Amino acid sequence: MSFKLLILGSNSAAFAHRRHHTSQLLNIRDHHFLIDCGEGTQLLLKKYQIRLSRIDHILISHLHGDHYFGLIGLLSTMHLFGRTKDMLLIGPPGLKEIISTQLRYSETSLKFKINFKEFTPDISEIIYDHSKYRVITIPMDHQVPCSGYLFREKPKKRRIKKGMVEKLKISKPEIIALKEGKDISDNHGNIKYENKKLTENPNPSFSYAYCADSKVKPELAEIVKGVDLMYHEATFTNDMKNRATSTYHSTAMQAAEFAKLSKVKKLILGHFSVRYKEPDPILEEAQTIFDNSALAIEGTNFIIDEK
Ligand SMILES: [Zn+2]
Ligand SMILES: [Zn+2]
Repeated sequence: MSFKLLILGSNSAAFAHRRHHTSQLLNIRDHHFLIDCGEGTQLLLKKYQIRLSRIDHILISHLHGDHYFGLIGLLSTMHLFGRTKDMLLIGPPGLKEIISTQLRYSETSLKFKINFKEFTPDISEIIYDHSKYRVITIPMDHQVPCSGYLFREKPKKRRIKKGMVEKLKISKPEIIALKEGKDISDNHGNIKYENKKLTENPNPSFSYAYCADSKVKPELAEIVKGVDLMYHEATFTNDMKNRATSTYHSTAMQAAEFAKLSKVKKLILGHFSVRYKEPDPILEEAQTIFDNSALAIEGTNFIIDEK
């Protein structure tokens, strides 16, 4: 298993119809990223038996309450449970000031360090660079500075065909060079091992795009092009298109058209308006345009793996 996304909350504005505010947990090879942290997120983490100590990265899309009002509660609980590990907290400008003010007035000095990183609104930038993957911001079009996040694995190394290392007694430096796609020469400069005969293509690199609150923005297709999985907000059905536009949100049809344009493999729809008791009409509408669509329902796991 490579990427595993757990949906926690998926409602907009208010808790309703047993749906909570927006929050998701992405697991990339045991690195856990909490994406948005609406009110009640820590209760949902408990419900789905996610140990808080596993979360080392929290990403907030914007400062509307339905996306971060659970944050100070979660950080306080981590502190009370004795966390000492650093936390990386990525979010919009102002988040550091808000959290610092809340902690200052409660005279709380956290037992762990928060490394704040505030994104630059309106541009796409690498906000976190790990040796195996990157997190890139996706500038959304909302009433306040808002960013989505693209998680993209870096290209993997070539694989040496089974049994070849033993059969040809390939040395360690040669293995490294072969995995990097190089041919191996002997002392006279003649080709000893031709790379394409001994290696196979690398395993695929996976990607997940979280497109937070926004008016649909087709220019972003270049950034999220071809991702394995994309979440896009779909607050309304298309009969509410005018309302979606005036409130800087998207309809299911717009999200599906954007998924089609971006040639993503799978679309997840969320951030449902409280007006929908059941979000099924949102899915039905999206599927008329983009068949491989699904709803962000609490407790659902979306897995991207090698199969
Ligand atoms: Zn929202
Ligand atoms: Zn919002």
